[in-house]
Amino acid sequence: MYKNSPIAAWRNQRSAYRLEGVSCDTCGALFFPRKYRCTCSSAHFSPFQFSGKAALLSFTKVSIPPLEFIDYSPYCIGLVRLEEGPIVLMQLADVTFEELSVGMEMIAVFRRYFAAGSDGMIFYGIKFSPAELA
Ligand SMILES: [Zn+2]
Repeated sequence: MYKNSPIAAWRNQRSAYRLEGVSCDTCGALFFPRKYRCTCSSAHFSPFQFSGKAALLSFTKVSIPPLEFIDYSPYCIGLVRLEEGPIVLMQLADVTFEELSVGMEMIAVFRRYFAAGSDGMIFYGIKFSPAELA
């Protein structure tokens, strides 16, 4: 399965582990995750390191997750606006649904996503947590 592929994990490690996106060399637009064609039609990008600071725009609780995340259910996901502008949908960590509120300051944290079977690779990545806990 593509999601469990060590090759895909290797190729996406900079965005998955470091919150690295791209900036358009022509118009300066920022994207996370990376794009291969900008809205200005340019295909020339440079790596861009996002700060990890964000604001929570919306959130919900996932009670019936995809199979990979069944051990973590229920968990929360949210739309966060990165300090630099892009809006991303991410898992939220270290917080319950009742503790969340729109506008809350969030910070990127490095957490375990899931394990591909009992003998499989363990996948890690970025989640967002309330900044007051950092
Ligand atoms: Zn552009």
